[in-house]
Amino acid sequence: KVRVRFAPSPTGGLHLGGVRTALFNYLFAKQNNGTFILRVEDTDQTRFVPGAEEYIASCLEWCGMKPDESPTLGGPFAPYRQSERKASYRQYAEKLVLSGHAYYAFDTPEELDVKRKAAPNFLYGQTTRMEMRNSLTLTAEEVQQLLDENTPHVVRIKIPENETVSFFDQIRGHVSFDTNLVDDKVLLKADGMPTYHLAVVADDRAMEISHVFRGEEWLPSAPIHILLWKYLGWADEMPEWVHLPLILKPDGNGKLSKRDGDRLGFPVYAQNWTDPKTGDLTKGFRELGFMPEAFINLLAMLGWNDGTDQEIFTMEQLIEKFSLDRISKAGAKFDYEKAKWYNHEWIKQADAAALAPEVKAALATAGVEVQDDENLSTVIELVKDRCNVISDFVTQSSYFFVSPKDYDVAAVKPKWNAQKTAFFEAYAALPMDGNAVELEAQFKALAAEHQLKPGELMLPFRVMLVGGKFGPGVFDIAILLGKTEVENRIKQALE
Ligand code: GLU
Repeated sequence: KVRVRFAPSPTGGLHLGGVRTALFNYLFAKQNNGTFILRVEDTDQTRFVPGAEEYIASCLEWCGMKPDESPTLGGPFAPYRQSERKASYRQYAEKLVLSGHAYYAFDTPEELDVKRKAAPNFLYGQTTRMEMRNSLTLTAEEVQQLLDENTPHVVRIKIPENETVSFFDQIRGHVSFDTNLVDDKVLLKADGMPTYHLAVVADDRAMEISHVFRGEEWLPSAPIHILLWKYLGWADEMPEWVHLPLILKPDGNGKLSKRDGDRLGFPVYAQNWTDPKTGDLTKGFRELGFMPEAFINLLAMLGWNDGTDQEIFTMEQLIEKFSLDRISKAGAKFDYEKAKWYNHEWIKQADAAALAPEVKAALATAGVEVQDDENLSTVIELVKDRCNVISDFVTQSSYFFVSPKDYDVAAVKPKWNAQKTAFFEAYAALPMDGNAVELEAQFKALAAEHQLKPGELMLPFRVMLVGGKFGPGVFDIAILLGKTEVENRIKQALE
């Protein structure tokens, strides 16, 4: 039975890498009639950020990835917030101490600092552990006394010496780690909270997780987790490991970070995120006008493809086609231009009526009120090919609802003359009936009467209606605006 979990820590906004991890979990669960679990890993109280959990839940909802079990939905393995499971972890830490795979460590932060400063590549391993006060270096009586006196202490895993931890990763194949390069990580903190390492193993087992999908940045933690699975006697129940390729900066140089978004001008969060500490707003894909369908589509393609050239997939298609053996080992470059291309493709395919609410909201934000929804759908149909993101509709369609305030005068002015003024005065007076083709014929015939070339008049006409040199066919625009409005705009522009 497939049971997978997305296990974010509520430390801030949900980065696109995080949503991709959620998506791969979700696709795999749905494809196998499995269960998709949201588990909140909030054991690090120092990094806890209020509102982050709600934010994460709302991002998943926007993307159309509904968990089957979660902190708010509950489920057979509730609670799904690690802080609420605090009491369950100590027994495992103690079991490990008893079996000799972990030890009580009484090192003070000051002592650790001295060690860290003395060695640039400090590793808390065999040498360090024998120099510190802990249950390996003190007598049983001394340890008991310290514990009885409530001396602050942590529990650390005792990483074995000169061993190799090997495991099979579904993407990377056989992976091995030399234990001499692995730290004696803290498992239980002085406040009784487990660290990530202990909690993740205890909960993956408790929640009967079958596959662990997570970013490759967690690969170095895998040997610790595998040792814990073994030392706790659960080796037979160990999940499959699936470490997803990193998402790289656009130039492929290193991992994509929040700062790259700020610097290079693209969103890194699923939705806008305001840091409650600093009040800083970081732009999200949603607010920048991405469709959720396009967003999950572009995320799916960051490290996966179906082996063909197909790039546009619906969620249903992704669920059907997804496969572990087509996930790449190599990091996936994130390219914002390509991201916009995906959204463009989705906007082009979308039904105008389906886009209307978002477009209407974007226009309202820009101060453009839309009264007639039917008219809006027609406008959307006419301009959607020109839009990459929803906010592009503001520029591309505002002029259908309010007449231009500014004109791209430079586009017209140098070649202006009284003859052209006369043409437009005459044109404004014509009855405007017929379809776009008929209107164009009418326009050309009048141009000929005025001994002007239609080519010299088309651009000025567009600028009069739109304000600038853009938009769909000018006669299509004219028909939508209607005779009175076209006449008014010509007059206004000629003033
Ligand atoms: N809480 C970890 C994170 O924030 C989860 C890593 C994992 O899936 O094991 O990404």
